[in-house]
Formats: sequence, C-alpha cells, structure tokens
Amino acid sequence: MNRKTDLVNFKKEFIMNYDTDVLVVGCGPVGILCALALAQENLKVTIIEMSPEIIPAPRAPVYFPSTIYALDKLGLLTDLENIASVGKQISQHFPILNKKVTINLNILEGLSYPYTLHIGQDKLAELGIKHAKKLGVEIQFGQKFINFEDVEDGVISTVENAEGRFDIRSKWLIGTDGASSSVREKMNIHFDGMTWPIRFVAANIHAKLYDHGYSATNFIARPEHNGVVVIIDEKTDLWRIAYSENADLDPEKVAERFEENCARPFIPEGAQYKISTLRQYRLHQRAASTFRQGHVLLAGDAAHITSPIGGLGLSGGIWDAMILADLLGAISRNEESIDILDKYSEERQRVFWEVVTPGAKENLRVIGEKNIDQHQLDCEAAQVAGNNPEIGVRVLLFSHKLIGDTLRKNSRWKDASKIKGVDMNKIDAQMGDIKNRFEEATSQIKLKETTS
Ligand SMILES: Cc1cc2nc3c(=O)[nH]c(=O)nc-3n(C[C@H](O)[C@H](O)[C@H](O)COP(=O)(O)OP(=O)(O)OC[C@H]3O[C@@H](n4cnc5c(N)ncnc54)[C@H](O)[C@@H]3O)c2cc1C
Repeated sequence: MNRKTDLVNFKKEFIMNYDTDVLVVGCGPVGILCALALAQENLKVTIIEMSPEIIPAPRAPVYFPSTIYALDKLGLLTDLENIASVGKQISQHFPILNKKVTINLNILEGLSYPYTLHIGQDKLAELGIKHAKKLGVEIQFGQKFINFEDVEDGVISTVENAEGRFDIRSKWLIGTDGASSSVREKMNIHFDGMTWPIRFVAANIHAKLYDHGYSATNFIARPEHNGVVVIIDEKTDLWRIAYSENADLDPEKVAERFEENCARPFIPEGAQYKISTLRQYRLHQRAASTFRQGHVLLAGDAAHITSPIGGLGLSGGIWDAMILADLLGAISRNEESIDILDKYSEERQRVFWEVVTPGAKENLRVIGEKNIDQHQLDCEAAQVAGNNPEIGVRVLLFSHKLIGDTLRKNSRWKDASKIKGVDMNKIDAQMGDIKNRFEEATSQIKLKETTS
C-alpha cells in the first residue's frame, strides 16, 4: 500500500470516533440557526468561526413573515420581540410621479405573522448563540476551516487556529461560510450565474425618518437614486439606505458621493442625519452547481447569493438551514435514507433559480425602471395591490415561497407554507409579475363594476 492509501485507512479507523455529529463552518445567521435547529433534533453540533467574534455589522436587517415563522418555531421570537423593531407597513415610493403606495401588514392578520421584524443579523446571530449554547452546541471562535476529506463514514476537516492545524471528525460537514465559502471551494464545484453591472452601497444612518413619511420598509422606485430605506433599530433611529451605483465609479469616493449626491434624494431636506457606517458591495446572482457532495452540504450564502433588494438572500438561506436540519435529524433516527440529501440540493437550487432569482430581478427592475410608461404601469400595479387586500396578501406572502418543498411527510416544517384559504400557486413575485397581477386585479374591478 502506498502512503496515501495508508493515510486514508488510518483516518477511516479514526472516523469511528466522531468528535461531533455535525461540524458547521461559519457562525453567521445561517450557521447558528442551522446549529440550533440541529441541536433541537438531538444532534451533537460544533461550529467553527474564523473571526474572534460575531462580525459586528447589521447587513441584512429585515425578516418577513415566513422567516418569522421559523424564528418562532426555533423558540427565538419572545426574545426577539424585546430587542427587534416591528414594522407594520411596507411602502413603494414613486417620487417622480409624486405617488406613495402603502400596504398595511395587518391584512395578514389570521393568516400569518402580520408584521416584519427589523434587527441587524449580528444581533440575531448573538441571540442564536445564547439559545444554541443551552442545547450544548459548541462554538469555537478564531478557528478557520482549511480543507476536508470525505471518507466512508463521514468527514475529516482540517482546521487552523493560532496554535496550528488539527482535525475534526464529524458525520456531516455543513458549509455556511458565506459568499466566498472555502467549503464550496474545496468541493471543487461551479458557482454558476452572473454579476450585476452595478455596485450597491449600504449606508446606515441615524435619522428620524418615520417623521418624514417613511414606513418601516420602503422601496424607492426612480430612474436615478433608487433603492431601499429600512428601519434597523427604532430605539437608536438607525436606518439603512441601500442604493445602487454604476460599478465603474471610483469605489474610494463612495462616501464623498453619498454626502454630495446620494443622501438627499433619500433623506428629506428637513431631516438631520448622521452616518453610522457606509459599506459597498457587488451584486451577484449565483448558486453552487450542487449543495451536496457525499457528507458535505452547503446552505445560505455559501450555496447561493442574490441581489438583496427584497430581502430574499438571508431568508432563503435560513430556509435552507431549517430543511437541512430536519433531514439530518430524520436520517439520524433512520427515518430517511441519506439519498434524500440529493433532493435537498435539487429543491433548494430550484427555489433559488425559480423563486429567488426572478423575484430579485423583478425587484431590481421595478426600482430602477427607466421607461416612464412602464414606470407608470408599475405604480398603477402597486396601487392595485395597496388598495385591494386580496392582491396585497398575495404580494406579502411571497416570502413563503422560499420555504419550497419540505421533502418529507413528517417534516417539522410540513405546515409552514400552508396558509388557510390562500392558493400558494397564486402568490406573485414580491413587486413583480406586475402584468398578471395588474391585469387580473383590473379585470376583477371591471367585473365588479359591470355586476353592480
Ligand atoms: C453590506 C451588506 C448588506 C447586506 N444587506 C442585505 C439586506 O439588506 N437584505 C438581505 O437579504 N441580505 C443582505 N445582505 C446579504 C446577507 O448579509 C447575507 O445573505 C447573509 O449574511 C448570509 O448569511 P450566511 O450566514 O449564509 O453568511 P455570512 O453572514 O456571510 O456568514 C458566514 C460566516 O462564515 C465565516 N467564515 C467564512 N469563511 C470561514 C472559514 N474558512 N472558516 C470559518 N469560518 C468562516 C465568516 O467569518 C462569517 O461569520 C447584505 C450583505 C452585505 C455584505
């Protein structure tokens, strides 16, 4: 036998003594919520995180009703309600038409959670850690994933810390290590898709924007200076303004441009503001060519990345984690064969390409629409949704489509996307599928007019 085969056999003997059932790489929101859900399935979980602490940046700040459902079932909602801000309205602003359309989330009363939750993803991760630790999840900061070897019964991962390198043996390895995932890289697979020709700027500012006609979540649609304005933390009046810029503009001058040209189109003249942080990032629409390779799985941004307009990225990632934890729990109880993990990969890819991607593209199109006739039509369609609760409900429930197929009869999440009296096949893209929604709604209105 040569040295390599010797080494593999040596490692195989050792794999019988697992250090942990599941090694999760990355303690972002998807990693920690995945670990918590796995621990609730009675699996032993270790998380390694290369940073010395949770990265202190709010990044994704809004959670829609389908994500709130998951957070509730994980047992986080009571604590969250104490620390998060609650949003009751979502508005679409069409400043050049001098129109604002608002949908009240109370139209979801009795169907789903009738509000949005607003909290930085770092705070959500910290709360997740508190709950996961109570269930015995081991969280190791300052530990960087380097590589893995998939052996017959599990995975041997090489990890590096300040003292050097060591191995962790686990039955499963989950890469939740974000957009530049090392786990994905070591799987040697493609990250298919495209990069948008724009750069996004996420400006966190302190201002009293509720006093200036803003709802908790706002889409600002106009050819120039379009974006989203969202409350992050009501107690400190912290808001996010996220807007796009041409990717060719000098990245070094983003703060200058914000002060000179970009702040005021979003912040009314009468409102004082103070910049907290200003970050820029490129937008991609990409997914890994598989989310499973043997005992190695991907979830969250490690598996797929999207334009953040509409908040579909993190929400989709959280649902990857929920479904995956349920499947690994069922496999550990011998209720499912490991082949179901291929279905996980196929279904989560389908959700990304058939739900997230068209939704994200349409959201970007609507806010940046340059054709004034189409812009007018988008505004009219928004008004139809704002004035007609039946249509409004369908727009608001779009995030439930991120749940996808929960893949097994007894899934913990089997009822998550069933909403009494609502045909989920009729749920529209978030701001999109304008044409169908608009035509159907206007035909309903015409029908009412002719019958009355
Ligand atoms: C500035 C900004 C603003 C954003 N705004 C929004 C928004 O408004 N709405 C929205 O939906 N999305 C937004 N996003 C995207 C959103 O933040 C991501 O979808 C979300 O962070 C994904 O969570 P995650 O847990 O999968 O990955 P991440 O949050 O990226 O977490 C990955 C973790 O893995 C760790 N890690 C990486 N490599 C290793 C390694 N080799 N070993 C150990 N640990 C490792 C990292 O340190 C990190 O803690 C934004 C992103 C950015 C950058």
